[in-house]
Amino acid sequence: MNLNSIVIILLSSFTFTQIRVIVAADNNVIDRLKADVAYLSGPELAGRNVPGPYGDKTAHWVAGRFAEIGLTPAVGDSAFMQKVPLITGLLDTAETMIRYRSSQPQGKNITCLSSWGLENGQGFYIFPKRLAPMDTSCKALYCGHGIVSGDLERNDFRDVDGCAAVVSSGIGELTPREAGRFMFTPFKAAAADQAGAAMLVEVYPPLGKDMALPPRIQRKSGEVNLPLVDLPETAAGFPTVHLFTDMKAQDISGIDLKVVFKDMNQTRGFNVIAGLEGEIPEYIIVGAHYDHLGAVEGDEQNAYYHGADDNASGVAGLLEICRRWHERNRTGRGLIAVAFTAEEDGMLGSRWFVDHLPVPREAVTAMVNLDEIGRRGFANMRDVQKDIEPDPKYAGAYYSAASPKLRDILRSAVHRVDLNVELEPVNNFSHFGDAGPFHEAHIPTVQLFSGFHKDYHSPSDTIDKLDFEKMSSMVDLTSALLEVLTQAENAIEFNPGIRVEKPHIPH
Ligand SMILES: [Zn+2]
Repeated sequence: MNLNSIVIILLSSFTFTQIRVIVAADNNVIDRLKADVAYLSGPELAGRNVPGPYGDKTAHWVAGRFAEIGLTPAVGDSAFMQKVPLITGLLDTAETMIRYRSSQPQGKNITCLSSWGLENGQGFYIFPKRLAPMDTSCKALYCGHGIVSGDLERNDFRDVDGCAAVVSSGIGELTPREAGRFMFTPFKAAAADQAGAAMLVEVYPPLGKDMALPPRIQRKSGEVNLPLVDLPETAAGFPTVHLFTDMKAQDISGIDLKVVFKDMNQTRGFNVIAGLEGEIPEYIIVGAHYDHLGAVEGDEQNAYYHGADDNASGVAGLLEICRRWHERNRTGRGLIAVAFTAEEDGMLGSRWFVDHLPVPREAVTAMVNLDEIGRRGFANMRDVQKDIEPDPKYAGAYYSAASPKLRDILRSAVHRVDLNVELEPVNNFSHFGDAGPFHEAHIPTVQLFSGFHKDYHSPSDTIDKLDFEKMSSMVDLTSALLEVLTQAENAIEFNPGIRVEKPHIPH
């Protein structure tokens, strides 16, 4: 135990049978975490965009830190780098078209038929998540405002499987508090995607002739020409369309959508991987993505997305874990530490890693992912809208419901730290970043998270808003969890048949 540590013994206020031994935050740890987050979220890395020079610079910096700590590469070349093939491309605005049909006859039984080209900058905007071209024609289903809420017992996407989900913009009669993150199109889109929709079409009132787009849309429209990134083998993605029309969303019965890309370019990113051998050739993977959103498009002050919590915090935590593990005795299983690339583009780095593991698949016991571990935050997005303070000690531990043993493992880790950790079994990790590909590969997976806040994916996710005491406790939690996982006697079962009936939906 470190000399600076103070052991505090607290008697649980609920039962006197339980004694919690908690190690107070170590100032050296906090200083290191601060220094790493400051560099990662600072101007030298300007938002860590992938692919791009700042993303590459971040990867090389992480590799340098691995070497400094004394780690050995787990894969590929001697520089800790795993090359991840990526493709970039631009949306061809002249060729990309939408056409929508209505069953409502207009005038003399003429069915309304309209189409727009994207080059107008008016009519519609599309945000494809993937680089796959598409030319599709499907039935449209009206899905209200695209809200899914357990509290409201409402699921607007219930019957949308195979159809285009057409929604009215905004939140209708709901208060922002009730709608939570479903105020925002990306969350409507994620829910529609999960429900099996072919695309999301959000219908806005028509734009006047000289009317500027609303600021939020304007900023978004800049993304149309941003390079999109994807792996070669990725299937057609899920498109999100903003459609400006005087037709009622309810009256749209069919959608034809053609999406074309140009200037396709082969490029690459890097996962950065180190191995920490144990006594036996089995491993726990511990990971955090290092990429973020880069520069704020069109900003003259060279503003960039700092991504201090998302996910400079996770990378700093990962480095601290590596340092501790390197100094400790090698017992039980080993660790494989990975800093992932291209998470923000759809977990491309972690997907590649899972398909190209540095060790045999059978040697991987579990995965622990760190994504946003530096803030005081809420357990759900809804509370972010309220005028209340978060529980300063809240932490979320999401784990594969298919591996119930993870709950016991987490419980024994949680007792060693001064945090209020909520254990949440999940059936899938589709909204949880790099945890997703591991869970999908039936690897027992845990994601640690310090809570939702209003600066998510905003240039205001800055270092001054982090709580380094809490972050240090999150690192202790990770460390305790890895300790239990590396020492666990048996393999951890993953049985996809085991599901939770009412999974926690964090919004
Ligand atoms: Zn993230």
